[in-house]
Amino acid sequence: PMLPLKSGTGSTEEIKLIQDEGSVKNLMSDLHTIDSELLQKLVYDALVWSSLHGLVVGDRNVQRSGLMPGVGMVHAPFALLPNSFPESHWKQACDLAPIFNELVDRVSLDGKFLQDTLSRTKKVDAFTSRLLDIHSRMLQIGKKEDIRLGLHRSDYMLDEKTNLLLQIELNTISCSFSGLSCLVSELHRIEGRTGISWEKCWAAMALGTMSLLSQYREHLGFDPKRIPINTSASNFAEVLAKAWTEFNNPSPELINTHNITTIRKTLAEIDAQGKILSDGTLQVDGETVAVIYFRAGYAPTDYPSESEWSARLLMEESSAIKCPSIAYHLTGTKKIQQELAKPNILESTPSLKPSINSSCGSRFLENKDDIAKLRACFAGLWSLDDSNAVKNAIEQPGAYVMKPQREGGGNNIYGDDVRESLVRLQKEGSEEEAAYILMQRIFPTAFRTILVRDGICYKEHAISELGIFSAYLRNKEKVISNEQCGYLMRTKVSSSNEGGVAAGFAVLDSLYLT
Ligand code: ADP
Ligand code: MG
Ligand code: MG
Repeated sequence: PMLPLKSGTGSTEEIKLIQDEGSVKNLMSDLHTIDSELLQKLVYDALVWSSLHGLVVGDRNVQRSGLMPGVGMVHAPFALLPNSFPESHWKQACDLAPIFNELVDRVSLDGKFLQDTLSRTKKVDAFTSRLLDIHSRMLQIGKKEDIRLGLHRSDYMLDEKTNLLLQIELNTISCSFSGLSCLVSELHRIEGRTGISWEKCWAAMALGTMSLLSQYREHLGFDPKRIPINTSASNFAEVLAKAWTEFNNPSPELINTHNITTIRKTLAEIDAQGKILSDGTLQVDGETVAVIYFRAGYAPTDYPSESEWSARLLMEESSAIKCPSIAYHLTGTKKIQQELAKPNILESTPSLKPSINSSCGSRFLENKDDIAKLRACFAGLWSLDDSNAVKNAIEQPGAYVMKPQREGGGNNIYGDDVRESLVRLQKEGSEEEAAYILMQRIFPTAFRTILVRDGICYKEHAISELGIFSAYLRNKEKVISNEQCGYLMRTKVSSSNEGGVAAGFAVLDSLYLT
């Protein structure tokens, strides 16, 4: 059949050399007119590739899934083909990664700033209050974290009207999908791979290293080099290993082996099996722990009893490197994001009297260019004690998002609910307003795409959110790593407010630079 997606270039030149912009746009805008036979083949092969390469998640329909490793897996929801994204905004987002890393580190050292900024929230938000209690305790005992490790993800949307790349939020704990997003990029890159002979293609398929999809590249006509290589999983692993090395500094032969044991425990298990030795060493089940990576602990439901809180405190008190420390965790709250966006906060002296935990005591950031770059991606952010902002949001609720201090998606308030909530809070005159911030709602351009979920493909109008992973590791004054670590593109149907992949609204995607 005549294939509407054919562009005829199949170029393997470097990104910069590619002239055929028209074909790029063609590929993206005409996705819904894809020949149905080709579509079925593409979906089938993408599903095979996903199964072979571990692009899978736990299947909620299987009872034992999530209880027993390796039981009940289903392919992760994904976009069949990548989403186009302007190269300039992509570069801008990458450029911001090391600056945000540095900012998180600086802010985390200013214990007073964190406590003061969250003091009103503390009164009305029991969960944030517990985190702040652990943080206060660390300030009291003068706990110092010489080795600091952050694995972050800063999320952005491209606002259609202003053409500005605006930050949605900065995640400092349990940033999801570093393991899967790189696989989706690989799937898409392979779909567009050029110049491979049939024999090689079949051989690679037989070995499970490549998909039959590459045979369709002629029809798809896109250049895989325009999909940035995504090494999020290996980058994160590398920095975790570097942190381990830093912890084990005195023992060089361990360093050379790179053979690091990992254990996976629930917070309750840590409470039962963990203890701190007199020198601060954390031992779990008799084994010394160098680095703690939190894959949970960011939501109230992660702490069903006091055991989980004791475990969190125990780990914080220990000398193990925590990713994140309680201060890094708190720095990622929406309230801190809102406070940092206020005029003169990034650049001003954080506190006249440096707090116990503050080693810089001067400014969060000195470099004016860096500050300008951060500011350029800040959306409108307001505290609810700003009566003007509240008035505007009541008048025009669709232009705002109301956010509590929560992570994991599904917690925000949109549309008419914003008005209702604000009016209710005003009437009650309660302090509960301190639990929330107001944010300008960002409206990205909707595009046509094909989403695959549970083996079924859907032609949808969708919008995207780009996340940039980054890692930061320092030991006292020495910055060991400060780098971007791949990316996450999430695409969701344009009618949905929230974008959670796990929650079932969004799919994993990659990006195609235009
Ligand atoms: P969480 O920490 O729960 O992920 P987010 O701030 O990322 O909280 O909000 C969840 C989702 O809500 C985002 O992934 C995005 O889809 C949507 N969202 C958040 N803020 C905005 C905004 N200002 N404009 C438009 N959508 C937003
Ligand atoms: Mg978050
Ligand atoms: Mg988010």
